[in-house]
Amino acid sequence: MHFHRPTYPMEDLTGPEEFFCQLADLEEEYRRPPHRRARRKKPLLAAALAGLTGISVLGAVAASSCTLCYAVSSQGEPPLAYVQGERTYTQAVSQVEEQVSQILHTEYDYPEQTQMELAIAPKESVQSPEELTASLMETVPQVREAWVLTVDGVAAGACAAREEVEAALDLVKEGYSNESTTSVTLLGDIQINLDYLPAEEELYDAETLAGALMLPGEEEEGPLLTVETVEEVTCTQPIPAPTQEQNDPTGILHERKTLQEGVDGLEERTDRVTRRCGVEISRETLATKILTEPVPQIVSVGTAQGVDAARGRFLWPTTGQITSPFGYRTIFGSTSFHRGLDIANSTGTDILASARGTVTWAGPKGTYGNLLILDHGNGFTTYYAHCSQLLAAKGETVDQGEKIALMGSTGRSTGPHLHFEVRWQDEPLDPQKCLP
Ligand SMILES: [Zn+2]
Repeated sequence: MHFHRPTYPMEDLTGPEEFFCQLADLEEEYRRPPHRRARRKKPLLAAALAGLTGISVLGAVAASSCTLCYAVSSQGEPPLAYVQGERTYTQAVSQVEEQVSQILHTEYDYPEQTQMELAIAPKESVQSPEELTASLMETVPQVREAWVLTVDGVAAGACAAREEVEAALDLVKEGYSNESTTSVTLLGDIQINLDYLPAEEELYDAETLAGALMLPGEEEEGPLLTVETVEEVTCTQPIPAPTQEQNDPTGILHERKTLQEGVDGLEERTDRVTRRCGVEISRETLATKILTEPVPQIVSVGTAQGVDAARGRFLWPTTGQITSPFGYRTIFGSTSFHRGLDIANSTGTDILASARGTVTWAGPKGTYGNLLILDHGNGFTTYYAHCSQLLAAKGETVDQGEKIALMGSTGRSTGPHLHFEVRWQDEPLDPQKCLP
């Protein structure tokens, strides 16, 4: 920086009147924008200063809206700025050097290409160190000003114009919106500030910045910008047919029969759905409207147990003479409980399935002799004992009335007969009460 106090030859000196005239010219000149100013200030200034003979400088300057100051300029260029003193300039230069060094991450020296000259300028054009710093920053080709978008303190990108950053934010909002969106909110602390960037750093256009803002972020953090949308969504959905149960005293306990098929209904539902970056975070039902009512399914549920449940379900398994009924009996002086019904006939008489069922036992079993057990699948089982021959195998399903065995006298038996048991949940019932 060159700093010198100009000196003027004696013949340029003028009287106070002429000085004020020239001062007025100067004022007018400096009220124009800097780039439109004429480059003739130096002779004018020289003449003006030369006029300070019979009057004090302070007095002359105080009388006008101008002030005595220093013009900062590059060689041969119009003044960059006016400052009060050298200190302002050196402060500004060191601020510029500090700022640019930070931005470029490297040591930066402001080039010594400006000089200071004594000048008279309008008071309002005299710059503070901060204003001069901004003026000098504009002369540094390694940095440039741009509008930087920050989200929660993190720089997201920069554009040349503030409008482009705003357009990018609008594009992001549009990107998460659809025809049912009622509101779009950008969450977090969003700032758009004019800042200096390295000159080679790429500036985004609105579309590019919007794209960067909508990219999935690192790991599970999600995109940099969180966009909350609220939608009102209407959809139709089925209403499941309800089931109505009716007790049936003639049905076997827990046995279910469908009396009427159900038909699903249809309803229209309006939900308010809140999403963040497209991901649903909450849903609230605003309204439902039933379009068609469901038709209930009606089911009867049996309540009958034991003998009550057995009625009408069993047939006589064979023919012959009842020789011993169900219940307590005395044989040879001792009392015992007879769990079945004995029906006597000749050996080889047909034995029929008393009801449809599955064979769960077919073979000899202790005092029963050759035994066949049918499970009827509804809590009932039937036993056919002392058979001479078994005609159905374990696992086989037989129909009611199907021939399953032949009468005999195997096991603990005194003559050919069928020992027939009917059990409800494994408890023997009186067969005669169950048979027609
Ligand atoms: Zn018996």
